[in-house]
Amino acid sequence: MTLKKATAILLLLCGTCLAAQNREADSLRHAYGRQGVASSRIVGTPYADTLDTGNPAVKVILFNDGTYRYVKDPSVIAGDDIWTKNWNTWSCNPYGNVTIKETVTLWLVDTLDSYCCPRIGYHSSKFGYRHGRRHQGIDLPYPTGTPVYAAFDGKVRVSDVVGGYGNLVILRHANGLETFYGHLSQRNVEPGQWVSAGDVIGLGGSTGRSSGPHLHFETRYMGNAFDPAWLIDFQTGKLRHRMIKLRPWYFDGGSNYVQAVDDEDEIFRTDEEERLLAEERARKEAEARAAAERAAMQYYTVKSGDTLSSIARKYGTTVQALCRMNNIKATSTIQIGQRLRVK
Ligand SMILES: [Zn+2]
Repeated sequence: MTLKKATAILLLLCGTCLAAQNREADSLRHAYGRQGVASSRIVGTPYADTLDTGNPAVKVILFNDGTYRYVKDPSVIAGDDIWTKNWNTWSCNPYGNVTIKETVTLWLVDTLDSYCCPRIGYHSSKFGYRHGRRHQGIDLPYPTGTPVYAAFDGKVRVSDVVGGYGNLVILRHANGLETFYGHLSQRNVEPGQWVSAGDVIGLGGSTGRSSGPHLHFETRYMGNAFDPAWLIDFQTGKLRHRMIKLRPWYFDGGSNYVQAVDDEDEIFRTDEEERLLAEERARKEAEARAAAERAAMQYYTVKSGDTLSSIARKYGTTVQALCRMNNIKATSTIQIGQRLRVK
């Protein structure tokens, strides 16, 4: 890109038109692919100028060769609670026992957060129960020494040898999501380090409790694991959606991703729509119950010598129940030929 062209785009940016800025970021992302947006890696690279944008966390770096890049300034977002609260560098779950009771909506990528599939292709072992034991992630075949990429921009929380995981890297992302990369033969990052999607955080391996080289990949929210297949279609390597609604039942130990017929609808349904659907379901259930009760109703025609208690006995019910069903009193006189509801 020429300096002139870059300047023209920068002038456009100065108009604080965020939509235009986002469009430009999108087209840049396509041009640069995985490295569309860098964060800390930019430090130390010779550049001509830095320009502010409408977003204080985002700068445009203009290089000596006339090219430019959007960069996120970690020092601006570093103060966010997400990087300090429930944060430690040794445990898989620093949140304690948090139960997710309501749907959580997460943006996976905005125009300045990028994504990189850790491994495209089939997965050999699924999320859920395996030999009676909970498998909290999925296993992706991964030859030893193959680069393992960060799935999203974020910060390294754990880089250590952790029990069955062997060499484990845990990344936290700005939306609160955490991604786990286990059984690595080598770890390339240190806790506290900022990473961009697509950065090589380590190499594939078979350390820890592992029967052969593979990557154990987990996604967690507030310490609760859910099937990564809700986020990523590992066949194509693509994110299923730019936004995900994590329903509370996704966090049940055995709940695998299921391809809903109206997947898109399900994901983008609002809480209000969800509430209306629940009401509709409840209404239909009540109707069905009422219809079943109507179908089960039985009537009896009073004959000579009958009393309320003899009829109740005959139909295995009580006088009170007969009175309730027929809106009469226990002291009421019943007439021969009168129809009484008995069930
Ligand atoms: Zn595994």
